[in-house]
Amino acid sequence: MIHFTDPQNLLKHLRGELPAMLETLEKFVCCESPSTEKAAADHCAALIADVWKGAGVQIETREQKHRGAHLRITYSPSSGRSRGQLLVLGHYDTVYARGTLAKMPFRKAGGKVFGPGVFDMKAGIVQALYALRALRELDAPFSKNIVFLWTSDEEIGSESSRKLIEAEAKRCDAIFVLEPSLGPKGLLKTARKGVGEAEIIVHGRASHAGLAPEKGINAIHELALQITRAKGWDDPRRGISVNAGIVEGGTRTNVIPDYAKVVIDLRALRIADMQTIERRLHALEPILAGAKVEVTGGFSRVPLERKYSAALFRRAQSLGKQMGLEIDECTAGGGSDGNLTAALGVPTLDGFGAVGDGAHSPGEYILAKTMPERAALLAAMLITS
Ligand SMILES: [Zn+2]
Repeated sequence: MIHFTDPQNLLKHLRGELPAMLETLEKFVCCESPSTEKAAADHCAALIADVWKGAGVQIETREQKHRGAHLRITYSPSSGRSRGQLLVLGHYDTVYARGTLAKMPFRKAGGKVFGPGVFDMKAGIVQALYALRALRELDAPFSKNIVFLWTSDEEIGSESSRKLIEAEAKRCDAIFVLEPSLGPKGLLKTARKGVGEAEIIVHGRASHAGLAPEKGINAIHELALQITRAKGWDDPRRGISVNAGIVEGGTRTNVIPDYAKVVIDLRALRIADMQTIERRLHALEPILAGAKVEVTGGFSRVPLERKYSAALFRRAQSLGKQMGLEIDECTAGGGSDGNLTAALGVPTLDGFGAVGDGAHSPGEYILAKTMPERAALLAAMLITS
């Protein structure tokens, strides 16, 4: 029997599983699951549950009214009482509408595997499954319960899954998020920016631009001043960014506009900076006499600060070394559900999923040979946690 404690043997075992992993991946990718199409997403959830059924787990299907079902899958150690719980977190929804497969089929070429959602993040779900199967086949002594949570709405902000994720995270000692890693070297994401969206709405007063300009209050002018003010909060060195992404306002060139609006994207790397920006945003005062300024929105995902991932990362790096893999880290500009769990103070390591590139684009792919490597790394983390 292969000895489970040797990470190299774990990797060797999983390398032998690559053909089976690719077969499972094909099934998942070929079952399209856009976040916004409930029937299709439910269908994919049922397929994933069916495939996981053989892994000695308990499966709960949490039906949702408007979204696909979330799957909560539990593996409990056979040795009886467990000493805690670990969470493996991911999503099966994709950003691709049903029918995308026709233009972007599942295919393998030159060591890469292409298809909608293959990288973000169906390969991650496959890797987790084979990590668990390997540990069971090698008779690894688990000390903790493992909960796998596969949700249906991460790509649209996790509205229906957020409570479930947070409730589960609170019970856990560590969380592994199987979102894609970064770049060809598969960097783990040890920090993620917090992400928000805000609207600044300006009400002015309409008037004729030629006959009575003095009676008007130009909402677009006011909005431009507000955008300039908000842009001044940018601080790339600290990881703060403010981006005016959408503007609207005005009717005709000879009318002084009474309404204008901007939608702003907000990012910050530190929780303190996020709070400062929110405070400033909601304290915005009109600059032109008589104008009114309204602000809505703010951060929806708190930054994942590196201090919540540092220890897990060091362990992953050392386990990787024992397998001959070079594991490195990066900071991600985008948020994920890992932001939600780290915000609760639970150690979280993100970007633990597939290695590849092109998420949310027609060229999305993964590198096939990295699937066993990532699965082995996850398995090693699970038994050493
Ligand atoms: Zn994702």
